[in-house]
Amino acid sequence: MTRRHLLAMLSSIGLAPRPASAQATAAAPAIEPLRLSDAAWQQRLSPAQYGVLRHQGTEPAGSSALNDEHRKGRFVCAGCALPLFSSDAKFDSGTGWPSFFSALPGAVMTRTDYILILPRTEYHCARCEGHQGHVFGDGPKPTGKRYCNNGVALTFIPS
Ligand SMILES: [Zn+2]
Repeated sequence: MTRRHLLAMLSSIGLAPRPASAQATAAAPAIEPLRLSDAAWQQRLSPAQYGVLRHQGTEPAGSSALNDEHRKGRFVCAGCALPLFSSDAKFDSGTGWPSFFSALPGAVMTRTDYILILPRTEYHCARCEGHQGHVFGDGPKPTGKRYCNNGVALTFIPS
């Protein structure tokens, strides 16, 4: 059987591969992963950023200037600049960490950690997998979520 015959047969039963352009328009834009060596991350980040983003550290409460950032704009990952949060989702949680009730669609991924014995939901940047913070279920409307973020893991871009 020739390749042409095979494709014609697959096409007749709906299994022919679609042209790449059709797939690209059908699916949501994929986030290109950023994977660097540990040494490269150490060079790229400040010691405080490196400790949080690459080793799940937690900055001291009240230490981030972003707690008092109330301008319109976007908060992007300090590791790879992927936009993670809109200023529209920021609220004052009173915890001492920048807090948001939602992340931008697809921007963060979650996993469960047991660092403090009790399970918590850790979240990280979808592009570089840099740790950002933990998400809790005691946030305000409309989502009821509270993304408790390390300010050092974010960069604010005013709009
Ligand atoms: Zn990132």
